[in-house]
Amino acid sequence: MSQTDIRTKIMTELTLYNSLKREKEVFKPMDPKRVTMYNCGPTVYSYAHIGNARAAVVADVLFRVLRHIYGKDCVKYARNLTDVDDKIIAAAKETGFPMYEITEKFAKIYQDDLAALNCLPPTSEPKATEHIGGMIALIETLLADGYAYESDGHVFFDVSKYDEYGQLSGNTLDALKKGDRVGEGEVARKKQSADFVLWKPERDGVGWNAPFGRGRPGWHIECSAMAKSELGETIDIHCGGVDLKFPHHENEIAQSNCAHGKPMANYWVHNEFLNMGKDKMSKSLGNVVLIRDLLKDWDGEVIRLALLKAHYRSELIWSENLLKESKKNLDDWYRVKNDCMRFAPNVKSKGNAETIDFFDDLDTPNLIKFLSDTGALQSLRNRLVHEGMTMQVQLEMQDALVIGYGIWLRTANLLGLLQKDPEDWLRGKGKEGGLSDDAIDNLIKERAEVRAAKNWSRADEIRGIFAAENIILEDGKDGTTWRRG
Ligand SMILES: [Zn+2]
Repeated sequence: MSQTDIRTKIMTELTLYNSLKREKEVFKPMDPKRVTMYNCGPTVYSYAHIGNARAAVVADVLFRVLRHIYGKDCVKYARNLTDVDDKIIAAAKETGFPMYEITEKFAKIYQDDLAALNCLPPTSEPKATEHIGGMIALIETLLADGYAYESDGHVFFDVSKYDEYGQLSGNTLDALKKGDRVGEGEVARKKQSADFVLWKPERDGVGWNAPFGRGRPGWHIECSAMAKSELGETIDIHCGGVDLKFPHHENEIAQSNCAHGKPMANYWVHNEFLNMGKDKMSKSLGNVVLIRDLLKDWDGEVIRLALLKAHYRSELIWSENLLKESKKNLDDWYRVKNDCMRFAPNVKSKGNAETIDFFDDLDTPNLIKFLSDTGALQSLRNRLVHEGMTMQVQLEMQDALVIGYGIWLRTANLLGLLQKDPEDWLRGKGKEGGLSDDAIDNLIKERAEVRAAKNWSRADEIRGIFAAENIILEDGKDGTTWRRG
C-alpha cells in the first residue's frame, strides 16, 4: 500500500476480535475519556520467556493504538504482578530468601526485559499482595450470595451456580462433567471437580487473616480483585495469551460477574501461541527461549518486530531466521529514517497532522508491509539529492517527503518500532554479534597507520575484515566514519 493509498483509506474505527462473542466487533468504549484495559501479568519467580513477551508486546500495540485514537491520558492499562503463589513460596523455601526479595527481583527483570522490547509502562502495575483486602471482600460477597462455599479451610467457587460458565472457552459444565473425577486432595473437598479455589489455608507462614480463616488467595481471584480496584467492575478490554483462556479467564469471568452482577469485560482479546517450528515451547522439551538470553544477541527492537510479524491471532513460528529477517528490515528502515531526517528534521512521529486509521483487528503484518514499502520515500529523497531542479519543485518535493515520512514514522511508532537514533542503530547499536564499536574504531586507527607505513598486506587484511562484517567506511576530510551496511 503506498502512502497515497493510506491517506485515502481513512477509517476511524478500531475493530477487535472478541473471543467471548467469537466475532470481530467495532470497539466502543464505555467512556471514550477513560478507556480501560487489563492484561494478566507474570508470576514473578523466574525469567520470562518469548511466549510471555508476545502477550506483552501484543497488549502494548493495543495500548498504543488506543492512546493514538483516544488520547494518551484517556487510556488506563493495568497489568498485574502475581507475587504470592505456591511456586514463589516453594522458591523462597528452597533458596532461603524471603518471598518479597524473589518477587521484587523478578518483577524488576520482567519490567527491564519489556522496556528493552519498547513496551510502554502500563498506567498501573498492581501487586497481588497489595490487594488481599479486595480479594477477601470479593470472596465474602460470593459466599454471602451463595456462589461460593467453605470446605476444610478452603473456599471454592461453585460453578453449578453460574449458568453461563464455559461461555468464553467452550468448557461448559456439561463438557467438564464428562471428565469428572472426584479424587484426592483439593478435589475431594469440592462439590464437583470444576469448582475452583478462591482461598486456601496458610502455607509455610504465608497467610492473611480473613473471616473464613487465615490463608492465601487462589490465582484467579487475584485478577478479579485487581481489575476491579484499578479499573472498575466492568472494564473495556481484557487481554492475555490464549493459554489463559481456560481456566484462568473463564474463572475470572465467573467470579466477577457473580459478585458484581455485570460483565467483567466487554471485549476479550487473546493472542495465539508461539511455537518453535514443529513443537510448542515447553520446559519438558528444553526449548524455552528466555527474553533475557535473546537480548544478549539481539536488539530489543529486532525481537519486537519478529514478534509482530504474524497476526496476533495466528500462531507465530519462532526461528533464528525470523530474527535475522527482522534485523535486516530494521537496518533498511533505519537507513530510510536517517536519510529522511536530513530533509525533514522536525517531523516527529507524534503530533503529525496525518492520521492512519486502519486498525483492523491489529493487523500488524499489514502495517509492517507498509513500512517495508519505502520506494516512494526513497525516490523522493534520491531526486532531492541528485537532480538539479528549480526552488519551487524542490520545495514541493520536500513537502511531499515530509508528509510521506511523517505517516511512515507514525506507523512505526504505533508498532513501537524505530524508536532509536538512526545513527546509533546504523553504527551497530542494533547488535548482532560481530565486532564491537571499540574494535572497529581500533581497526580504523590501525588501518590509517599501516596505510601511512605502506603496509599494504595488513591494509588488505583489515579491508577484508570490514567487508566480512559488512561495515562501510567513509573517508572524509575530518577522518574516517563507519556504519554497518
Ligand atoms: Zn489474570
